Amino acid sequence: MTSPFIPAVEPANQEPGPVWWFAFQEDKLLVLHSDGEIRLPDLEQLELSPTRRHYLGALGGQGCYVVEIAGDVALPDNTSLEGLRGLFGRLDEDLFGVAGRALQIVTWDRTHQFCGRCGSPTELVPGERARKCPVCGLTAYPRISPAVIMQVTKGDQILLARGLNFAEGMYSTPAGFVEPGETLEEAVAREIEEETGVIVDNIRYFGSQPWPYPHQMMIGFTASWAAGEIQIDPNEIADAQWFNRRSMPHIPPRMSISRRLIDDYLEGGR
Ligand SMILES: [Zn+2]
Repeated sequence: MTSPFIPAVEPANQEPGPVWWFAFQEDKLLVLHSDGEIRLPDLEQLELSPTRRHYLGALGGQGCYVVEIAGDVALPDNTSLEGLRGLFGRLDEDLFGVAGRALQIVTWDRTHQFCGRCGSPTELVPGERARKCPVCGLTAYPRISPAVIMQVTKGDQILLARGLNFAEGMYSTPAGFVEPGETLEEAVAREIEEETGVIVDNIRYFGSQPWPYPHQMMIGFTASWAAGEIQIDPNEIADAQWFNRRSMPHIPPRMSISRRLIDDYLEGGR
């Protein structure tokens, strides 16, 4: 990140100025193709009648808004709807980061229009990122689902697994959702053992990455093999193997924390 992003629920001042528009239709971002580059469109100049407008904060002092556009509108010339993952490396890196926040906010707003307890229509709470039920008072905030992802090593080898839906030949670091009541470290140990049969120890925090597909927080750890042979759960993964630096399979692209964990191993660890 080069420009600071300062999140906020409402603009600090009401002065007009250029803004960044993040316009989504479902989980696809509206982008403008111009001179061979991908940019964000100026929504003021497009007749799209967007709804569900939320202020996100300021990027480099410029306000950022997310809106939703209806599924039946005709897209303007030179624009297209793109999945966020496919925009990594094509859209400006700072804007790509804000787009992930934008997608989570607009998705949360769309899926919390009604109270989860009594079914009444909810209302936005002024000054907060929250929707509240005017009948029973239940308040809903944007949901973040923690998931752990692990670099497990055994001597000079790393444990990588193939998910059931992975592209041909692709392996990655094992990962899984944290269950209610569990510590992150317990989730690491449980997921590794469930998926691969391997027991780990020496679990250490590595780093984290918001993963807005739709609302995960990936929390990375390193861990060491302690016991057990690989014995996969075929309901969870397709394969798992120990690899070394000279015999690596296809690995995920650079946008992901799984790749950072693998690169850390390839560079010799910390
Ligand atoms: Zn209610």
